[in-house]
Amino acid sequence: MATIKHEATAEQQQAAKSLQDQHLYCRTYGHNWRPLSEQESATLFNHIKWGTAIGLQCETCEMVRGDIINQYGQVAYRIYRQPDGYSIPQGETPDRALLRLEYIQRRNLTYRTGE
Ligand SMILES: [Zn+2]
Repeated sequence: MATIKHEATAEQQQAAKSLQDQHLYCRTYGHNWRPLSEQESATLFNHIKWGTAIGLQCETCEMVRGDIINQYGQVAYRIYRQPDGYSIPQGETPDRALLRLEYIQRRNLTYRTGE
């Protein structure tokens, strides 16, 4: 098993280790967004009556993202609905390097020394 070289706090290391596989993947490589229907998108923003609602859901972790697009094409409002277990307390969030190392460990990938 590869040795972790990253300097992270114990809390960050624990947070990375405790992530579910799909949450680790999305935090490391980004979400796999698919569009929600117009009706599903609208239900994200029952309290906003203007603009165009664009709803997206991640096919990997089920995170939901909703944007309200204004008449200039700008994102005027954005919300996220995180799946259970996705959230990490502020200050304990692992950075991308630590997430990559955790991903490599879980997949048992090889570190090549070049020798
Ligand atoms: Zn995701």
